[in-house]
Amino acid sequence: MSAQMPESALLERAMMVPYQAISMPNTTKRGLKLLMRRDDLIDPNAIGNKFYKLYFNINHAIKSHKRRLVTMGGPWSNHLLACAQAARKNGMQSRALIRGKHHKFLSQTLQDCQSLGMQLDFVSTTEYQSLTNLPHSEQASLPDKLLENRQHDYFIPEGGCNDLGVNGCQYIGQAIRRYSGTPSSVCVAVGTGGTFRGVVQGLGGLCHTLGVAVLKNTHKKTTLFGLGSINHQPWSLAWGFDLGGYGRRLPAQAVNFWRTFEQNNQIAIDPVYTLKMLWGVDQLARLGYWNTGDTVIVIHTGGLQGRRGFSQQMDWPTPKPVM
Ligand SMILES: *Cc1c(COP(=O)(O)O)cnc(C)c1O
Repeated sequence: MSAQMPESALLERAMMVPYQAISMPNTTKRGLKLLMRRDDLIDPNAIGNKFYKLYFNINHAIKSHKRRLVTMGGPWSNHLLACAQAARKNGMQSRALIRGKHHKFLSQTLQDCQSLGMQLDFVSTTEYQSLTNLPHSEQASLPDKLLENRQHDYFIPEGGCNDLGVNGCQYIGQAIRRYSGTPSSVCVAVGTGGTFRGVVQGLGGLCHTLGVAVLKNTHKKTTLFGLGSINHQPWSLAWGFDLGGYGRRLPAQAVNFWRTFEQNNQIAIDPVYTLKMLWGVDQLARLGYWNTGDTVIVIHTGGLQGRRGFSQQMDWPTPKPVM
């Protein structure tokens, strides 16, 4: 991530992301051609979609002479780590409000954030929720809680989900548009939905986009997606593949699916987003959602650092992150 990179450089970079044929039990049985777009490889830290979300935010922060990134997230957040890394790389400071006041120990993610110089401030879950429920414009104008110094602080909402973040994610869709062949669908995990929205917009109607919701109560979040602003584009959302919700212990069936996927394809995936998206895609294939011979592109959104929070469930070797 670099301030000097112009917009066209992001497209070029997105176009270099490789696609890899993968197999899963039901998609194979149904005769689907499955391609994984390896956006986990967009940067060396496997930070994935957060690279796209931060790209224009960082550019903007630097252009407006900001000195510090201020954001918020949970203890295993990929977004927090991406912000800490981006701030460090661009000579800025960083600060984060962390969800939950009473952590017995610092997660490895937060330890990494701290060692990159990020200031961590813990707030109660209730307070955190009331902050995230505010519109972003109001979040950014709470001086004492979030921005101590308006002149120097640049606020990025939870998950990097603002207009500049969505704009960055459009380049995923644009790169797919320039990839040879027309897929039947592009599938992506949906947290806040900013990535999904960007992908849909960037695809510009090339094909259908399927978002797989990974959070349990996605539909309750009123700020989700801004999907109303996507006009005339073919997309849908799939629910019911959250495997119990964010950060929950995975059911044995899902752990088996995870292990089998990594062993068969030699690609490491994170359990919070990409695993659930793939699980959803494979289940939908079983239910006959696609036709034999369809090509489906699934997006690996990265976030491999989050695997560390699940270490107790992994009894198989992690495939190497590079192809
Ligand atoms: C943040 C994240 C997502 C979700 O992106 P949203 O734009 O919030 O929907 C998906 N995958 C990974 C690995 C992430 O870190």
